Amino acid sequence: MSNIKEFISSIRVIDGHEHVNTFSFRQKNQVDLFGLLHYLESDLFTAGMPRDAITSLSSADVEEKAIIFKKYFERTQNTAYAKAFKTAMKDLYQMEYWSVKGILELNDKVLQASNDSTWYNTVLSEKSGIDLVLTLVGETMFDDPSFRSVMFLDYYFEVLSIEKIHEIEKKVGKSISTLSHYITSLQDIMDSYVLDGVVATKLGYAYRRTLDVGKPTFYEAEKVFNEIMRLQLKQSLSQEETKPLQDYLIHEVIRASIERNLPIQIHTGHHETTVSGNGNIITNSKVTDLIPLLLEYKEAKFVLLHSGLPYVDEYIAIAKNFPNVYADMTWVYIISPTIASHALHKMIEMVPWSKIQGFGGDYNYVEGIYAHMKLARQVLGNVLEEKIKAGYLTEKEAQQFAEGVLRYNLFEIYNLSK
Ligand SMILES: [Zn+2]
Repeated sequence: MSNIKEFISSIRVIDGHEHVNTFSFRQKNQVDLFGLLHYLESDLFTAGMPRDAITSLSSADVEEKAIIFKKYFERTQNTAYAKAFKTAMKDLYQMEYWSVKGILELNDKVLQASNDSTWYNTVLSEKSGIDLVLTLVGETMFDDPSFRSVMFLDYYFEVLSIEKIHEIEKKVGKSISTLSHYITSLQDIMDSYVLDGVVATKLGYAYRRTLDVGKPTFYEAEKVFNEIMRLQLKQSLSQEETKPLQDYLIHEVIRASIERNLPIQIHTGHHETTVSGNGNIITNSKVTDLIPLLLEYKEAKFVLLHSGLPYVDEYIAIAKNFPNVYADMTWVYIISPTIASHALHKMIEMVPWSKIQGFGGDYNYVEGIYAHMKLARQVLGNVLEEKIKAGYLTEKEAQQFAEGVLRYNLFEIYNLSK
């Protein structure tokens, strides 16, 4: 009889990727139940709920929101997003009956939690077994030592208008009139990130264009930059027109990350409909489009997020062969526990365990992280138990895998002190 599940339940986790802010932010915003929907909201939209029907922008009162929510929630009962939401609400708020009255009572409890300064510690540390959260919320430092920052650089290289150049000028306190100045400003920005303790950079551009990055010359990039400098306020170029400049700057971001020993997280695969204004052009996110970059920057540490889903097989083949690529299970368990299970089975057979980041909730609220962590431990436990039963892994090898992917690998990837 294997004890691997018990072993996994005792691992203190380093969470590699979230979008959650600290408690003070939650309290300041008095987050209620409808502020906790996140991924579930995407399924509610797909099931027909109008956008903004129950957000803070809606003019509906809380009871009207509860009625709308109930209607569409019932239509999504089967999805893993909905299951995760239910698990969180049941385990953390003892929610049983999803009547309008029940939803309103739950809403009161969520508001109480948003005013309980012990709530984060209870949910993240005690109930989820998480020691450290790497999070992307656009801030470099936090008032909670269990949070460390990863910073998006998309705002830097997505230059479509003169306004963006003004923004960067303001940020670095220098005037910018040439592409060379603009690139120097990146060095300043990245140096300040390192000083503030940022542990990695992130590129999320697959939401807006393809992952393919060309190799434009400085001159080609400069031509676009100069065109932008001559635009009137409020005018902008298209994604397509600015691709040479964006591509050139993406190379700069990668080089600047390497120079500072910062890993680069890159979004690959599935899009979230609450984020992707352009719908869901999944073919923009093909992990194989990254191969030229992976070949070029051998000294980089690329953490390719989300197992490239649905291009999982190509993704694992890449993670197997590139020493500079780390595989990642962030977000995957709650998209589909079945895909997560298949991906883990294949990664165990193909990718060295030291190259896998096993968990990131990818949530913007702690209750979601709790439910995702619980599911991830279950899925990983089932997979490893199957591998032990099949005689593929010994109990000890399975333990090493679990501890590595959920904890120790992240110290190495992000240069964290133990
Ligand atoms: Zn994310």
